[in-house]
Amino acid sequence: MTAAHEGGADPRVESVGTAVYTVPTDAPEGDGTLTWDATTLVLVTVRSGATTGFGWTYGAPPTAQVVTDQLADVVTGRCALDVPAANEAMSRAVRNAGRPGLIAGALSAVDLALWDLKARLLDLPLVRLLGACRPDVPVYGSGGFTTYDAGQQERQLRHWVEEQDIPRVKIKIGESWGGATRRDAERITAARRAIGDTTELYVDANGGYSRKQAVRMAGHLAQQGVTWFEEPVSSDDLTGLAHVRAAVTADVTAGEYGYTLPYFHHMLRADAVDCLQADATRCGGLTVWLRAAALAEAAGLEISGHCAPHVHAHAAAAVPNLRHLEWFHDHVRIENLLFDGVLDPAGGGIRPGADGAPGHGLTLRADLAEKYRTG
Ligand SMILES: [Mg+2]
Repeated sequence: MTAAHEGGADPRVESVGTAVYTVPTDAPEGDGTLTWDATTLVLVTVRSGATTGFGWTYGAPPTAQVVTDQLADVVTGRCALDVPAANEAMSRAVRNAGRPGLIAGALSAVDLALWDLKARLLDLPLVRLLGACRPDVPVYGSGGFTTYDAGQQERQLRHWVEEQDIPRVKIKIGESWGGATRRDAERITAARRAIGDTTELYVDANGGYSRKQAVRMAGHLAQQGVTWFEEPVSSDDLTGLAHVRAAVTADVTAGEYGYTLPYFHHMLRADAVDCLQADATRCGGLTVWLRAAALAEAAGLEISGHCAPHVHAHAAAAVPNLRHLEWFHDHVRIENLLFDGVLDPAGGGIRPGADGAPGHGLTLRADLAEKYRTG
């Protein structure tokens, strides 16, 4: 126990800060329905005495302003050990601002920072604070952007499979809102050729297909041994997801746009997915991500962490029904750039907390990060 907690006085959250970093991609990136050339990370720091925790979300720069204007006062002065209470207070405070989207991202980043702070105050790796369920967390290589040419896609896939020994990979399909299915099919075939027969191959259409288009594409997916078909249609179309799910052999998955716990309940109740995805940088931090995992478990399903791998690592090790985490190229690159203490996916899994470092085990490379700072 650190000084902040000695003598029986509860440690209090004394300050909340933000920083915004915008990092250009290493090549143009795109999926079925969006393209981008830079990614913004909004960092939140919370301090109690001499101890600081931090969390982050990937989202628009004004996310930081939501933290400063709407959440900082709600959290400041609260007991730093009672994270669910702070999360609940934030949830209630943003009722009229409209939680889904940017505001949920802000709330999530504060929640993540508070969990990191608590673990550091108790001098425990976060996974030890939560309670481990497993030592290893499987990951899958994720990228395969529609903007890549054949050579770039193959190099990336071979990097994961041959250099890092990761036995699962995912590429983006659904290019141009489903307007390029011939190229989608060619890229899937090329991916299978590059990774060999034994590596699991996943695809993500980001909601780019129509219902019947997705079912027709699934014939080619089955031929190529694709076992994960993410957002074949819009994740807002729960009936459509359920129809596609019933018609194809690959697992149908979705959940990355869940900003509230009831969202996941609705998705599960609609029989829309074979594996639930949830993103702790959007859904309400680890507090809500762990509850989403419990909802999935009760429905007989596994959960997979969406993007931001270092946000999810410790919590993923704490749930029994984990499938894996997404080792997303864009975010891996940024987290490796901005943080010391990042995890190594060699062999296809990470071991959060194995080095004994408190909290999520990361430190900001402040000097280096400064050149990307935009707010
Ligand atoms: Mg996705």
